[in-house]
Amino acid sequence: MRIILLGPPGSGKGTQAQLLVQRHGIVQLSTGEMLRAAVAAGTPVGLKAKEIMASGALVPDEIVVGIISDRIDQPDAQNGFILDGFPRTVPQAEALDELLKNKRLKLDAVIELRVNESALLSRVETRVAQMRERGEEVRLDDTPEVLTKRLANYRSQTEPLIHYYSERRKLSTIDGMMAIDEVTRAIDRQLQALGAVEAKTQTKSAAKKAPAKKAKAAKKSAKRPAKAAKKTAKSAKTAKKAAKKAVKAPKRAANKAVKKAAKKAAKKTAKKAVKKGARKAAKKVTKKRAKR
Ligand code: AMP
Repeated sequence: MRIILLGPPGSGKGTQAQLLVQRHGIVQLSTGEMLRAAVAAGTPVGLKAKEIMASGALVPDEIVVGIISDRIDQPDAQNGFILDGFPRTVPQAEALDELLKNKRLKLDAVIELRVNESALLSRVETRVAQMRERGEEVRLDDTPEVLTKRLANYRSQTEPLIHYYSERRKLSTIDGMMAIDEVTRAIDRQLQALGAVEAKTQTKSAAKKAPAKKAKAAKKSAKRPAKAAKKTAKSAKTAKKAAKKAVKAPKRAANKAVKKAAKKAAKKTAKKAVKKGARKAAKKVTKKRAKR
């Protein structure tokens, strides 16, 4: 994977580049870092760049293009790289196109981190104040005054690259004002959409799909007990009905028995009454006959 990170100073290019390095096993090629290392080592390039860098101006193209060309040839860059701070002008972008063509390498994407300039200035002011408070060394070009100049340089010299790469259908713009991890995720999504991260993308999206599948299965199995409960409830209703019936049955039987007994008793009493009546009547007849 070969990508360019575009954005004004302080937009978070360096932070995002480091995160991409960890995630994708590629190298970060930062011309600013390389130049600072050259300055610190006192190399001929460093000696030439020192004053220019301290003023916030741009180091001549032939120097930065030469540094990048040598660095891309190193074995650790064969797996891919992120260009951070290069190209910074249209002529540098053209030189990069030529250089990649000669090396038979393809550029996958150009990611632009878009930020709000006034927010950038206050961010830098806060960071510098905090570093000074902690007694840390502040970069010569990291002061609000120099930053203002670097931002003006960015606008006039680097911003035309947005048009340059968008015309070549390489540009993706991301909101650099979001939280760091949100910016990282947005970059990853963009790289996946462009197909710049293949194998990892597949495993990642498969991993993403897996929990979704699991959730679906869980939902289904969650529905199962609900269904079972419904069934149980239905059978419980039936059982209740049956129990009610069972309770009612002996009652009905008893009622029937009582009725039957009452009927029998009534019949007996009636019979007795009839017998008694008959006897009384017979007695009356016997008495009448005796009188005669
Ligand atoms: P950076 O760390 O990318 O902000 O770069 C710090 C300084 O290094 C810049 O202000 C420039 O003076 C110099 N520099 C870095 N990259 C380039 C480049 N591509 N072209 C010219 N000058 C550069």
